[in-house]
Formats: sequence, structure tokens, C-alpha cells
Amino acid sequence: MRLRYLSGLGALIAAALLTGCDSQPETAKLTNNKVDAAAKAKADRAAKVKRAAAVKANELGQIPVLMFHRIVPKPQTTDDRSPQQFRADLERLVKEGYVPVSAAELVTGKIDIPAGKHPVVLTFDDSSPSQLTLNAMGVPQKDTAVAILKEVAAAHPGWKPKATFYVTRDMFGKTVREEQAQALLWLKDNGFELGNHTRDHFNLRGRSQKEVEEQIGSIGKEIEALSYVKPVTIALPYGNQPSKKNWALRGKAYKHAGAFLAGYTPAPAPFSKAFDPAGIPRIKVMEKKGDCAQFCSEAWLDWLKKNPDMRYTSDGDPRTVAYPKFKAPSLRKAFATWSLPY
Ligand SMILES: [Zn+2]
Repeated sequence: MRLRYLSGLGALIAAALLTGCDSQPETAKLTNNKVDAAAKAKADRAAKVKRAAAVKANELGQIPVLMFHRIVPKPQTTDDRSPQQFRADLERLVKEGYVPVSAAELVTGKIDIPAGKHPVVLTFDDSSPSQLTLNAMGVPQKDTAVAILKEVAAAHPGWKPKATFYVTRDMFGKTVREEQAQALLWLKDNGFELGNHTRDHFNLRGRSQKEVEEQIGSIGKEIEALSYVKPVTIALPYGNQPSKKNWALRGKAYKHAGAFLAGYTPAPAPFSKAFDPAGIPRIKVMEKKGDCAQFCSEAWLDWLKKNPDMRYTSDGDPRTVAYPKFKAPSLRKAFATWSLPY
């Protein structure tokens, strides 16, 4: 026992001596590694700041959320666009450096677009056949919204055909359940977002909480049953919020990260204190005339072009929120960890 104890002790001493001999270089190495890591992190951050400044990143700037309805050859209301007009709408966005993100990506702050580009959200209300009609092989019919989105994207590599479709029980004109499922699954499989637009397109203003939850919850469940997608966002019919605006976000059967209105300005960035997930403004797509002289898409896109300091510009890194230091007071606290002021 004693011998063993001694030899054990001897081993301990030997180990201590060995450690003693080696300890300094080991510690020095660790310290060096730490210093290296800290220096590398600092250099990385400096490089990120430089890149953000070079493209004048402004991730606290405003984002146009465009509101489309029908795409029809002969527009009947100012909500309709012809295929030709819709192509031109998209071409303008491409030309002016806009890249589509989905409504869900906007509200959750997952804006992953190249440096120097501006996000735009393309939304389609009322789930009409003019937006999506497929042939028996699942190919979109010519001049539908999805066909045009795909054409424009194919002509501009790097520009993804991303959009959000706000669904009611109209289900793109399909009444047979399997065909409804085909339509919703096609959208999902092609990278489009499915959103909630209430079952019967009800004006939610002034309705009871029970009615609001039933209108939103029932279509939400239906969308999920058909496509295995739980909508992340809702567009409020006529842009009208319920008596308590949070009823649109939270109900027994649903949880939305954002509720969209129907007018009349660009939306604040999700990282900005001005952002209200329960009431995100959208812009009707229309030329500068009549009611649209100031508050529709042509007017706002002109304004954002003339006022680039007001517009959201990406630094190309979805993990940071980059902005000129001057704008720091507008940053929402929740995003402080990702902030990259320059
Ligand atoms: Zn609608």
C-alpha cells in the first residue's frame, strides 16, 4: 500500500514537474490563440464595417411592400394590372436594384439579399385564377402572375421569383379539394409563401373576437390541411384591423408574425423601432394618377429613388443589421446583438 502510495506520489510529482516544464509555453500558446482569435474577430468586424460603408448599407431604411390583386388582359378596376403592366412593374424593380423577399422573411428579419440591393415584398391578395392557373401537368398558364414572375426571374439571373399569396376560400378558383391542394402545393414547392386573407374576405373591423378568430383560424387550418404550411403572415381584407389589432396576430388556432394593411406608404425595416408587426403598410401598384398621384407604387418608387437615404439597402450579410451610426437610436433593442453601425 505504502509503496504503491509512494509510487503514486512519485508519478504525481513527475507529472507536476512535466507540467511545470511545459506549462509556460502551453499557457502562452493559449493566450496567443486568444489574442489571435480576438484580433481576427476585430479584423473581420472591421472588414464587415468597410463593406457595409462601401455599399451605403441602410438596414433601418424603408421597404416597399407591393400589393397586387388580379393580373388580367383588360384591367377593370385600379386594383387590376395587365400582364404587360405587371411585366413592366417587375422590370422596373429589377432595374432599380430591388430583390424580392417574402412577407414572412420581412417580418422575421431574414432579409438575405446581395450587398447594395434593396428588398421588395410582392404580395397578391384574394387567391384568384389570374394569379395561378396550372395545366394538367402543373405548368402555369401564360400571363398568370406566377408565369410572368418566373419569366422575369429567368431573364435576370440572381433575381428569384419570390412572392406571397394571401389566400381566401376562393383558392385560385378551384372547388375540388385535390385541385386546391395541387395549387397550394405548387406554390409551396416553387418557393412562394402562403398567407392568410380570412376565409370569406370579411371586413374584420368591429367584429367580435370570436368571429375574427373563426374567420382567420378556419382558413389557416384549411391551408395547413391542404399544403402542410401554417401561414406566418396575414393580409387584412380592406386593410382593416380588428378592434384589438393583436387579434389578427394571435388566436387559439393561429400565430402570425405580421399583419399587413392595404395602404399607403413603404414599410419600416423590421429592425427599426417604427416597425409594428400588427399593422405593416403596403403600397397599391399603380401609376401616378387620380387617387394614386402620391401614395401608390410609381410615386413611392420615384420617391425612394430620389431619397436613397430613406431606403433599405442591404450589406449582403443576413446576420448583421448594418446602418450609419447616426441612425442608432432607431434600432430595436431585440436586434442590438446583430447591429453593425458604421
Ligand atoms: Zn382582398
